[in-house]
Amino acid sequence: MRMTSGLLAAAMTAALLSRAVVAAEAVPTGKLPDDAKPLAYALDLKIDPKADRFNGHVRIKVRLATSADHLWLHAREIDVATAAVIDAAGKPHEAKLSVRDPSGVAEVAFGTTLPAQDVELVFDYSAPFNTKLQGIYKVMVGHDAYVTTQMEAISARHAFPSFDEPRFKTPFDIVLTVPRDEAVLANTQRTGYSESPDKKWKTIAFARTRPLPTYLVALAVGPWDVVDGPTIPANALRKDPVPLRGIGPRGAGPQLKWILGQTPATVKYYEDYTQQPYPFDKLDLLGAPDFSAGAMENAGLIVYRDVLLRIDDKSPASSYRSAFNVNAHEIAHQWFGDLVTVPWWDDVWLNEAYATWAQGKATVALRPEYLGDLSRLEGTLHAMNGDSQLSARRIRQPIASQDDIENAFDGIT
Ligand SMILES: [Zn+2]
Repeated sequence: MRMTSGLLAAAMTAALLSRAVVAAEAVPTGKLPDDAKPLAYALDLKIDPKADRFNGHVRIKVRLATSADHLWLHAREIDVATAAVIDAAGKPHEAKLSVRDPSGVAEVAFGTTLPAQDVELVFDYSAPFNTKLQGIYKVMVGHDAYVTTQMEAISARHAFPSFDEPRFKTPFDIVLTVPRDEAVLANTQRTGYSESPDKKWKTIAFARTRPLPTYLVALAVGPWDVVDGPTIPANALRKDPVPLRGIGPRGAGPQLKWILGQTPATVKYYEDYTQQPYPFDKLDLLGAPDFSAGAMENAGLIVYRDVLLRIDDKSPASSYRSAFNVNAHEIAHQWFGDLVTVPWWDDVWLNEAYATWAQGKATVALRPEYLGDLSRLEGTLHAMNGDSQLSARRIRQPIASQDDIENAFDGIT
């Protein structure tokens, strides 16, 4: 926000006159302040795809670096029913979450001043399923309701109160309660199952994730077809096999078999190249019936537009090629972006450039008949064309506002 000189003079006068001006601290619309750092999340969500809203109970462990009576985080179009901060001694304090900027910057007031320590924030809330394919959103196919997610770049704040920046990587414990007959998926393998006494709901607990930024959290609920792929075998770098599955809208399962069959070799290629094992405990490829991007590299649960993965004997050769290439790009991100994550959006070109570069290498090695080296040349010429415009932006564009973030995903990157 830019201030006029008159306003600035008035603000300085006010600062001299009163300590109350502290309450008028500027809203951090760029990066959040460094004095509060999330350490872990527990997300407990109740999701019925046939409803219009979902409910959440979220606990966030936070390290306060200095004494404070409030902190800043992100929440957008979320109705918080109760908020509390539990201090290091276990004492709860009623808190209040107030959204201070339309981009979803929110202040959490503790109602008391707490010294530097580890605290836990607890929120009970509800939120609508997003209608713009962001956060946790819902798509109807006929009478079937599918819920899935897209958090990148800054839409996790639609799904749960969060420190919605890539530099904050923490473990997530995810628990989902859904109607008993719905398929349900998240980033990791399931570890727990229970049913409500009336048998209408089931509650699935998922294994704690490796440290992830909020933008890589994913889940899905609905009448999905879930088909097993070939398990990705153990090898010298990784002692456990990686379960592989394909997920698509009702009836799409058989069309996912081809891409599932390609996937173990692609994973192995990157493991051999990086000498780093596949980083997560399973790999799901989910074709969503409506999706804002082409695909999204969520850790362990990659989401694609379903048309990109659905292949059968009537598909043209170009569909096989593009399915292979997009899958190889998203799998490359499991290392480049997911295992190693850039701290801020001005470096996101590293995510995209490394994944694109690695995909080209994998395609040339595994599918030489796709002429991946020519595709790479085409891509280079396309980027050079964009870069020759007077309006061309820098590769490492400074990110000053939330709006700049979306601009960082283009051909130049
Ligand atoms: Zn990418």
